Amino acid sequence: MPTMTDVPTAPTASKPDLSPVQIWRCRSSSCKAWVRAELAAGAKPSCPLCQGEMIRGIKHLPKLVTKVKAQKKKADVVPW
Ligand SMILES: [Zn+2]
Repeated sequence: MPTMTDVPTAPTASKPDLSPVQIWRCRSSSCKAWVRAELAAGAKPSCPLCQGEMIRGIKHLPKLVTKVKAQKKKADVVPW
């Protein structure tokens, strides 16, 4: 069975659609903790690892993909 490792470009896999996401990240440079702003508790979260202060930032993440990929296309949509 072939594995997905060491395959530079899988033809079926589209490259991840990265989008800038607002995050909170730990102020400490030695701490790698960060959370999505939308998932952070409160307006000023504290670091879950070191309880330090967190600062706003931007991180490029693949878009959250919902399980339902796409809505059913309407029959009257012309492809070309
Ligand atoms: Zn931290």
